[in-house]
Amino acid sequence: IIFQKYCQGATSSAIFGELICNKLKEPIQQSVYKKTARELANEMRSNCESVNGNRSKLEKHILKVLAERENFDMYMTYIHNPRKLFKTFIRDEVSNYVSEKFNVSVLPKIKEGIILHQQKIIEAAHEASRLVKVKNDVDSWLKHFTHQLSDVLILSGKTFTGVSYNDVDINFLVDVMRRELPAVKFDTSRTFRVVNFLDKLDYRDRPDEILIDHLCRCCWVQCPFCKAICTKTIENHGGDHSVPFHRNIGLNGWHFSETKHLSVDICTSEVASNHSFYPNVSDTIAVLWREYRKGGPKYANWSITPDFSELPYWKWVVCRFQKDLENKYNKTFQGSGKIPDEWRKYTKQEAIESLNKHY
Ligand SMILES: [Zn+2]
Ligand SMILES: [Zn+2]
Repeated sequence: IIFQKYCQGATSSAIFGELICNKLKEPIQQSVYKKTARELANEMRSNCESVNGNRSKLEKHILKVLAERENFDMYMTYIHNPRKLFKTFIRDEVSNYVSEKFNVSVLPKIKEGIILHQQKIIEAAHEASRLVKVKNDVDSWLKHFTHQLSDVLILSGKTFTGVSYNDVDINFLVDVMRRELPAVKFDTSRTFRVVNFLDKLDYRDRPDEILIDHLCRCCWVQCPFCKAICTKTIENHGGDHSVPFHRNIGLNGWHFSETKHLSVDICTSEVASNHSFYPNVSDTIAVLWREYRKGGPKYANWSITPDFSELPYWKWVVCRFQKDLENKYNKTFQGSGKIPDEWRKYTKQEAIESLNKHY
């Protein structure tokens, strides 16, 4: 009878242990993916030229890429909806990185994470067995086990529901789990693709969202004239919006009143002039550029100081995309808005290099 009881206990424990191991698969996977995602985000922040600095550095990188690709639509998104372009750019960078480094960086992290979790689970099972006071009190064992794992896995009260346990002998459990846990199959095969990995993560755990959160938590207010993005951070904002470099306001569709001529002027030189502008399309009273803050709330909070340095980059952009800009705004660079001949001498390479000097 004792032998029979022993066998029964061993069998029940084996079934129970196996069930527990299978129920842990999903939580292990989630936890490992989440940890891998965080590590990948950190890895990219030290290895990837585009995302290893602050937003200004990323902006410079994006401007280089935009010039290399010569893609007008992307320029328009950059000017009119920069946050969207930055996010798309970061998502693409992450997805490329994950595909490129999948076998050398992602998969090893996942495998290593699984082994680490398995060790911690066995330790927790050991500890739970030690803590159970009443012989074979499985309820109590499960409580201790769950508690021991609370820092390692996210286990809900429901994780182990439906696991029945008659005649379970706690003394067998650790051995059973040591045997069964490595048998649980995880998606670490070659068929496990990049998309699976990113898609299995909760939205805010994704490496791209971690990087977006890190890099995009800045002021996104744009210059009312040229749409340059304020470069201050949220934490240290205080006072006016500002940006080191403004651009030709024709890029944003500004034109001379009562004409269809786009402007090639730059905010920083205009604020030193005697020219004036209409703050809103429907306005009939013009405001002097020198007193641009009187133009209304969106002008009042900007600090634009006179400066005559100009980035060859934006001159090249205006020349390269003259026709596209003219079509987009249904206006032309003519009359007072004629593009100066010397702007046309800049090559794409010179344009890109000029970014290095100024960012
Ligand atoms: Zn501006
Ligand atoms: Zn700002």
